[in-house]
Amino acid sequence: MPSLARSCGLTLLAVLCFSGAPAHAQARLEAHYSATIAGLPIGTGSWVIDISDMQYSAAVSGQTSGLLRALASIGLFVEDEQHRFSLTATGQYLRTDHPLSADPLARFFGADYEWRAWADLLHSVRTGETAAVHALGVDVWEHRQRHPDDRATFDAAMRTLSRAQIGPLLAAHDFGRYTQIVDIGGGTGALLAGILRTHPLVRGTLFDQPHVIANAAPVLQEAGIADRVTVVAGDFFSDVPAGADAYLLRKILHDWHDADCVRILHAVRRAVTQRSRLLIVDAVVGPPNEDPQSKFLDLMMLVTAGGRERTEPEWRALLAEGRFRLERITSATPANHVIEAVPD
Ligand code: SAH
Repeated sequence: MPSLARSCGLTLLAVLCFSGAPAHAQARLEAHYSATIAGLPIGTGSWVIDISDMQYSAAVSGQTSGLLRALASIGLFVEDEQHRFSLTATGQYLRTDHPLSADPLARFFGADYEWRAWADLLHSVRTGETAAVHALGVDVWEHRQRHPDDRATFDAAMRTLSRAQIGPLLAAHDFGRYTQIVDIGGGTGALLAGILRTHPLVRGTLFDQPHVIANAAPVLQEAGIADRVTVVAGDFFSDVPAGADAYLLRKILHDWHDADCVRILHAVRRAVTQRSRLLIVDAVVGPPNEDPQSKFLDLMMLVTAGGRERTEPEWRALLAEGRFRLERITSATPANHVIEAVPD
């Protein structure tokens, strides 16, 4: 079934790429993925590829022109009458020296272990089990812990996604009203850094697994907010830092089945005060025949992490099981809603 898996994977990429906001930021993903697997010298500054140059063609193989032609048809390159290709404004995101370079995402989506999981899509569809576990023998977190390169790529991809989403998220929710935000499973801190840069009076706690937290310092220092952040390593299934007025869980609960989510929510519930607010940033699955972002992301969660995306009633029920009450949902981007809840 690899072909089914691959076409679903590509469809997923295409959907992530070409729908939703910020549209031009997402349009870059698929192209860069393709460009990366072709081994193109992307990221070496501004460049033009002249495929009529025999030497160059020989070096990069005859398929390059087909690849670039396809990418030009979706606006990432421009092909001129001499069949020379140059990057468009959107295509600039393909460069590794772009501040919001899609390079880490491309390497994450293209990683061998991710493809092996997708190749087992049918197993997940038939059994409901996580394809990654079936294909790799361990879950993705364990796999990444054992393979530092894959982990570094994943962490970098999450940083890129967080940075790309920070503007819409800050517009959707006023984080300036909190004094202390705990970012649970906050990765290497890119989101917390974005929030704290915008709100100079807010302090933060970054909480994640020890081997992830170990790489947070440069991200926090570069953003100039390290002095306002406490970094805590731990396991969100057992205990999380107590007493803050906001608890942020971005793209955490969609990684897990309901029973695991309830364990995470209970750990948070033990840490909150009556005045704390829980801020979940995740997709809220839209109505039938709409919202491909959430629905394909749901498949990705099924296949890789072993989680799922949820509808509003499902969020309400899950939160109630975790002893929280859903208060409000605000949309930041199609698959990024702010789901606000309070202790019940
Ligand atoms: N919130 C970040 C990262 C999301 S990826 C963002 O929005 O970009 C999920 C994160 O959960 C990863 O950083 C991973 O290291 C963390 N994680 C997974 N299992 C964990 C556990 N048991 N305890 C704490 N963090 C965990």
